[in-house]
Formats: sequence, C-alpha cells, structure tokens
Amino acid sequence: MVNQPHPLNPNPSDQGTIDIKKCGAPFNVNSANVSASNVRPKYDVCVIGGGIHGVGVAQAAAAAGYTVALLEKSRLAEGTSSRSSKLIHGGLRYLEQLEISLVWESLRERELLFRIAPDLVKRQKFYIPVYDRTSRKPWVMKIGLLMYAVLSGGHKNCWFKTVPRSDWDSLDGINQAGLKCVLQYWDGQTDDAALTRAIMQSAQDLGADLFFPARFVSAEIGRDEVEVFFQFGSDSFSTRANVVVNAAGAGVNEVLNHFTPKVAQLAVENIQGTHIELPGIITQGCYYVEAKDKRVVFVMPWNERTLVGTTEVKFEGNPDEVTPLDSEVRYLSETYETHFPDRDHSIINQWAGLRVLPVATGAAFKRSRETMLPVDDQSRPRLLSIYGGKLTGYRATAEKVMKILSRTLPKVTPVANTRELHLEDPYRPSG
Ligand SMILES: Cc1cc2nc3c(=O)[nH]c(=O)nc-3n(C[C@H](O)[C@H](O)[C@H](O)COP(=O)(O)OP(=O)(O)OC[C@H]3O[C@@H](n4cnc5c(N)ncnc54)[C@H](O)[C@@H]3O)c2cc1C
Repeated sequence: MVNQPHPLNPNPSDQGTIDIKKCGAPFNVNSANVSASNVRPKYDVCVIGGGIHGVGVAQAAAAAGYTVALLEKSRLAEGTSSRSSKLIHGGLRYLEQLEISLVWESLRERELLFRIAPDLVKRQKFYIPVYDRTSRKPWVMKIGLLMYAVLSGGHKNCWFKTVPRSDWDSLDGINQAGLKCVLQYWDGQTDDAALTRAIMQSAQDLGADLFFPARFVSAEIGRDEVEVFFQFGSDSFSTRANVVVNAAGAGVNEVLNHFTPKVAQLAVENIQGTHIELPGIITQGCYYVEAKDKRVVFVMPWNERTLVGTTEVKFEGNPDEVTPLDSEVRYLSETYETHFPDRDHSIINQWAGLRVLPVATGAAFKRSRETMLPVDDQSRPRLLSIYGGKLTGYRATAEKVMKILSRTLPKVTPVANTRELHLEDPYRPSG
C-alpha cells in the first residue's frame, strides 16, 4: 500500500524545523546511542504527536507557564487531524446515543472557537432532507434539533427552522423525489490542518519548542522525571521531562510499547473513515443525509469543491498506510448520487483517517466518542495518553490533561488563558 498523498494538509514543506542547536545548552544526561551534544535540556512537559490534541496540550501547557517540547514524526496534522470531516460541532447524531455531556461540552467549545478563531472556524448552515424513506421521522429530528439548540445556549443563531418548499430549488440540486421536509440548523466548519497549525503557532508564541520531523523512539520513566529518546533527522537525541503526554493518535498504543517500565494499554481499535472530493461548489451549506444503511453522511462545501464523508470500517494495519477501500468509495458515491442525482459524480480525490474507539461488538457509529485520558500513576502521573476524542473538543481536553498533570508538575504562574488566545493560520496567504 502506498502512503496517502496529503491533499488536505498543504502546509509548505519549507515549514522548517527549529534549529536544534539553538534550543539551549546541552544537558549532562547521556545514553549509549545519543551523543552528549544531542542531549536536550529538560522540559516540564514533552508531548508526542503534532495532531490537534498534541498541539492543544502544548498550547495549554505553555499558557500555564510550563516549558514544552512537542515531537512530531512527520508534519503537523499529518495524521487524522487533516483527514476529519472538518466540522466544529456538538455532534447532533451523538444525541441519539444520549452522549449529552459530550454534546454540551462540544457546543460550548464550538461557540468559543467562533470567537477566538473567526478566520478558521465559520458558522455554517446545515440542511437535513427528510424523505418518505428516511428512518428518522421529522418530529424526532425536530426534538433532537430543539435539544441541540438548547444545549448550544439558545443563541439567536442556534435555532433550527423548516425550509419552505418554495426554497427547495435553491438547495444545490437536492433530490426532491419523496422529499417530505427539509430542516435547517447551524453548526461550524473549519480547515482542520490549518487549525492545528494555528494552535501550534500559539504554543510557540508562548515559548513551546516544536521538533519535526522528530520520531519518538523510547522513554524511561524514573522516579522524578522521564527520559525521552527521539530520532531527529538522521540523529538520535534525548531529553528529559517532568511529564510526557502521548498524543500519537492512532499510534497511541504503539508509542506505549516503547516505555520502560511497561505501562497498561486500553483496549481500543482503529476505525477508518473515508472522504471523497468531487467537483462543483456546494453553495448553501452542509447537508446531513441518511445513507442506505441509516448512517449519517455529510455533504459539504470544501475549497470550491464538494466533500462527502464518512465511513466506519475496522482497520488493523500500520496507521501511516490507511487508504480508502473501494467499498467505502462506492458507498459514499452512491449516497451522494442518491441525494444529488444531477451533479457531477466524478471523484477528484479520496483519503482516509483513523478514529481510536474502545473495543466493542456494536457498530462503530454507536460507540462512545468520549476522550479517554489514562495515566501511569493516579497520584503522581509521569505519563498521560490521549485516546480518541474530537477536533472540536481539543481545548477542553487539553485543559483536562493539564489538570491531571498538575498533580505532578511544580506550581507556576500562568502566562495566558487558552480561552482568550486568538488563533490564526500562520501559513494563510496574506492580502
Ligand atoms: C473520518 C474522521 C472524521 C472526523 N470528523 C471529525 C469532525 O468533523 N469533527 C470533530 O470534531 N472530530 C472529527 N473527528 C475526530 C478528530 O479528527 C480526531 O479525534 C482528531 O483529529 C485526533 O487528533 P489526534 O491529535 O489525537 O491524532 P492525530 O491527528 O492522528 O495526530 C497524531 C500525531 O502523532 C504523530 N505520531 C505518531 N507516532 C509518533 C511518534 N512515534 N513520534 C512522533 N510523532 C508521532 C502522527 O504523525 C500524528 O501527526 C473525525 C475523525 C475521523 C477519523
């Protein structure tokens, strides 16, 4: 299998690594395969993984006043954080699983992101076409949307409405055969890779060090600190940290395999989700449609094109090699064709990302989306791992991580509050 090209993470390849020689004086720790000059100074927090969770923790730790190093083996957002559906949302469908606190928290974070990242997170109209064949009845949808609006805080832009029949022709060519009603509500949309980069930039502005491409190799948990070994370019380096945060996404358990002493792992599986990109602009907003197996699929505007996703299929290989299956592409194409029969159905691009979900027998889309944050030691954690989670909740997750790690970290004076820090894509073309 070939590595997926990265259509969604067009950050410049000259993004640049920091010059490791300028990162402070060498520290006097040594190990067999790390030369003395490659030993980095000690940090309060070392984060493994430059996806949304890793950069979120780096920002939160730097804002709390700690020294931070983030190791990313490839590029920022190279993993799932550029392959998501790019929605900043509470997750209307999670209401069906009664994940009320998750929806509530995500909606709070959505509103915050509209405020602190207005160029990156946009309020967006979402349409739900309800057909005579749709399994979710209009009144059920309306109750769900009412709950969603209430959980959103009841702002004026949170309420749903029924789209008058006279306006259906303006809805991007939606199939009107058997259409009983169209509901419209509000949620958010972003550029996930750009959001990730913006958060890392904010962390770096607060003093965090980013190392990439820097692959975590192993770590030894001691009584007072953790020694971390990593490959930076062709050289081996080491650093020490009071605490380590494992934010390696779908590689979370693989990273844990390389800690000494051994650390317990959660039983999770990687579930792949595919998106396809098609020509033609969707002008009115996003569409929340029901596929033939009753799952929800989104049809969304994306970079002057149309994005359709996603799927949920168990994945057992190397996370770096996840790639869309023909069956997933067919499923998404058919769902799109059913709902938008007269649009161009040629596929321009396709990619897959991985969710980390607890092992269970049921369908993936019915499993909990709560983030899990296990530690090596409850009273004095040196290692915390982030399992699962959502793009939308990255900041709240980072806050929880820092609260847990405060049991170990020294007391320091915060320098900023992530609720107030403005986020901007550092690579957005100016003008
Ligand atoms: C198909 C799909 C659609 C989704 N849609 C949404 C959505 O619309 N809205 C939403 O809120 N959430 C969504 N999610 C969830 C969200 O995208 C993920 O929870 C989130 O992106 C995961 O971020 P992460 O930082 O944990 O992992 P990742 O983004 O995968 O980051 C992990 C990073 O760790 C690095 N890494 C791994 N091993 C090492 C190592 N040894 N050394 C150094 N670095 C390493 C990887 O290179 C990678 O960059 C979706 C998920 C999927 C799969």
